[in-house]
Amino acid sequence: MSITSQELREKYLQFFEKKGHAIIPGASLIPENDPTVLFTTAGMHPLVPYLMGQPHPKGKRLANVQKCVRTGDIEEVGDATHCTFFEMLGNWSLGDYFKKDSVAYSFEFLTKVLGIDKDLLAVTVFAGDADAPRDTQSAKIWQELGISTDRIFYMPKSDNWWGPAGVTGPCGPDTEIFYDTGSPACSKDCNPGCKCGKYVEIWNNVFLQYEKREDGTFVPLKQKNVDTGMGLERTVSVLNRAKSVYDIDIFAQVFAYLDKIASGFTREKRIIADHIRTAVFILGDTRGVTPSNVDQGYVLRRLIRRAVRFCRALNTDFNILGEIANIYISVYTDVYPELAENSKKITFELANEIERFNKTLALGLKEFDKVAFYVKDGTLSGKTAFRLYDTYGFPIEITQELAKEKGITVDIQGYKDAFVAHQLKSQAGAEHKFKGGLQDDSIMTTRLHTATHLLLAALKAVLGDNNIEQKGSNITTERLRLDFNFPRPLTKEEIAAVEQYVNKAIAEGIEISCEQMSVEQANAQGAVGSFADRYADIVNVYTIAGFSKEICGGPHVANTKELGTFAIIKEQSSSSGVRRIRGILR
Ligand code: ATP
Ligand code: MG
Repeated sequence: MSITSQELREKYLQFFEKKGHAIIPGASLIPENDPTVLFTTAGMHPLVPYLMGQPHPKGKRLANVQKCVRTGDIEEVGDATHCTFFEMLGNWSLGDYFKKDSVAYSFEFLTKVLGIDKDLLAVTVFAGDADAPRDTQSAKIWQELGISTDRIFYMPKSDNWWGPAGVTGPCGPDTEIFYDTGSPACSKDCNPGCKCGKYVEIWNNVFLQYEKREDGTFVPLKQKNVDTGMGLERTVSVLNRAKSVYDIDIFAQVFAYLDKIASGFTREKRIIADHIRTAVFILGDTRGVTPSNVDQGYVLRRLIRRAVRFCRALNTDFNILGEIANIYISVYTDVYPELAENSKKITFELANEIERFNKTLALGLKEFDKVAFYVKDGTLSGKTAFRLYDTYGFPIEITQELAKEKGITVDIQGYKDAFVAHQLKSQAGAEHKFKGGLQDDSIMTTRLHTATHLLLAALKAVLGDNNIEQKGSNITTERLRLDFNFPRPLTKEEIAAVEQYVNKAIAEGIEISCEQMSVEQANAQGAVGSFADRYADIVNVYTIAGFSKEICGGPHVANTKELGTFAIIKEQSSSSGVRRIRGILR
């Protein structure tokens, strides 16, 4: 079947809507209040609180399209199936249907709606181990639907198990669905876990049926959830029998443009096309960031700089990257209007970053050739790699790639040591968090999140200003950070009074209640919060009686007495008219 990306998005949402799912908007690429991960990596990521048991305002059956970034896949980019940015189609059951319906829905969608021959599908299921039994249920359901037993593969935990996100929490077996491209098997043991390219994983259905306890045991969960994720690019590519995810409609104009510039260089072109697409989405997000040396900004910088370097491989001007960005903005104009809305910012920041790197790139390359020439025992020292980063702006993977071309390696541990030594005084974090992971629903984050509500209420009360609004929030396991509008620094007395106000609310031991209502009702009750645009009509409102009422996605402690003692550790300017407070709980 030939199908466009937009047709697949529509067919998917329509199908699950007909099966009783509420269609919810996708979240920002940049997670709010989650210190453990830089980007949204899967559709389930913004839904973690609901998978943990909090009721979702839209009910128990949900579906959406979610923008995802996986920086951990950067080395795979250039192959037939991986991108650093991709769209995930997801459907969820929050304690509603389970394995039988989930597998049946997937089967019906793939074979009836998309018309895939069932004999071109292959599936994997969990083989079982000491912690949890073999998932014969899923296997049986597939079999009953008509998948022949030789296309059902049992795999170990490393392949067919998800979670928990942290040390403890919901987790369970999954069943993964693969498309058989029809290439010959690479060996008699060839199976969907194989990287030879015969099988392409398109969809993963996760069955969250256990809770991992602190003592390491797995106990059955009362609320059993289903979380599924289907890759848009991969599914479109297999349906069109395309060579790779880069050979689908979304990329057509970009590759036509690149092919005019140079012939060949498939891998290099894919890397450029991928990295610029991801950069466009990070810059153009509603919570978009700009290139910097920390966190998301640094990932963005690395992607842009790596694309610049691959332009050199094509022997072409860096300006082509701006052109490519413009192509993406127009390709996605109907689906992701935020790109067009932020188009000036995207093109400006992209050009700016390219220019910045361009200034040091030639010098850095010269320097690299020099140091590489003097390398002893085939290894470039970590200190030198750090100098290339610090002085010439070479992200480590660029140095690694250059080294590889010369047949030498880089002392990565040495580079990390030099990096950490340098960053120790500042906030660090970027390298550490680069890999990503899932939300750490740790108690500390939850406490700090709840304290942020009290802090906002305290600021309004103490400063006597009801126009104060939250302009931004960021929580790590150590501290909270709240940005709010206010025209001047706070006095010592005001800071003390704010702390006192928060600590009073804590001392009173107030229960925190959560109610669901329409945005209008919430506003009428005076609830504050900027989540209104996320869940179109019904929202969660958290009340700390007498202190605060906010529209929020959580998570929250049950009673303020769980917070301990609050203290402000810093108050400073964030930007014009915006102050920033860092606070801790002891
Ligand atoms: P793989 O092992 O092939 O990298 P995965 O196990 O990481 O895939 P999941 O985490 O199960 O994939 O994600 C769900 C779906 O998202 C996958 O079935 C696939 O269709 C899609 N997907 C995952 N990673 C990527 C990627 N880097 N680029 C494009 N699509 C992806
Ligand atoms: Mg992967």
